[in-house]
Amino acid sequence: MTITGTTKNLGVIGCPIAHSLSPVIQNAAISKSGLDYVYIAMPVEKEALAEAVNGLKSLGFTGFNVTIPHKEAIIPLLDKIDESAQMIGAVNTVVNNQGVLTGYNTDVDGFVGALKDVGYEIAGKSVAVLGAGGAARAVLCGLIREGAKEISVGVRNPAKAMAVVNDFSKYFPIEVFEWHDDAFKNKTKNANLIVNTTPLGMYPNVDAMPPVDFDFVSDDAFFYDIIYTPMPTMLMKEAEKRGHRTLGGAAMLVKQGAIAFKLWTGVAPDETIMMKRLIDSLSK
Ligand code: NAP
Repeated sequence: MTITGTTKNLGVIGCPIAHSLSPVIQNAAISKSGLDYVYIAMPVEKEALAEAVNGLKSLGFTGFNVTIPHKEAIIPLLDKIDESAQMIGAVNTVVNNQGVLTGYNTDVDGFVGALKDVGYEIAGKSVAVLGAGGAARAVLCGLIREGAKEISVGVRNPAKAMAVVNDFSKYFPIEVFEWHDDAFKNKTKNANLIVNTTPLGMYPNVDAMPPVDFDFVSDDAFFYDIIYTPMPTMLMKEAEKRGHRTLGGAAMLVKQGAIAFKLWTGVAPDETIMMKRLIDSLSK
């Protein structure tokens, strides 16, 4: 990849941003595609968001990703918002079409697409979701949009989770439980798909996992842990030991990046090279 005077610009804004893996996966995709783009990480403090967004527009950036703490705050600064981003109330990808900024949330299709890639269809499935933070919003949106039959959310603090789930009540009836509650265990018993959206088990606390009682899990339940450090997580290892199919978060991370790449360039990237570079980078 050679940067010249004609190279088009992409990047990610957030704070902190040094840990972001997006430059790794996006530049891998750019190199492989042979397209004339470059993708950089740009630290932007909360107070500087409006100025930064205007600056990126003036500089003619083709587009950019948006991460913590700007995913919600950027919405009023954009000209258009796609349906998924609107439903979640958060944007992670912006496309600059000749000065018109459109916000998307590719985490939704990233979550769904990674499952589809392993042949798993959400339609008609009963799903138990662990955790109700920012990532859970994308997961809930994907589950509703794809036609899940039933969605139950298990958390440590149901009152806090209700605020998240209420945002979706006009689309689908989601029930919230304290995750040790027998009522939630009965939900996991009937669940076809169990999704962890908490950081329990994420590096450095790799021995942690959310409280899943495997005596209350159906034999054919599929476990999807959206954490990508480490891979596999303790939850995935425990599930695999008992013969369950599992999927880790790297697939979602690559897929959401691939969808953003296509929105910016019009070209579907090589997801295999993106995954390879991601795994290389995580194992360093
Ligand atoms: P978040 O907004 O902080 O939400 C985390 C959820 O987990 C909340 O419901 C929170 O409960 C719960 N939680 C956090 N710590 C807990 C603990 N010690 N015990 C019990 N519950 C706990 O985080 P997020 O942005 O949603 O991210 C969650 C995870 O998803 C992270 O590991 C992140 O790396 C991963 N992720 C992966 C992808 C991907 O592409 N694969 C994308 C986004 C996020 P409270 O509300 O009670 O605090």
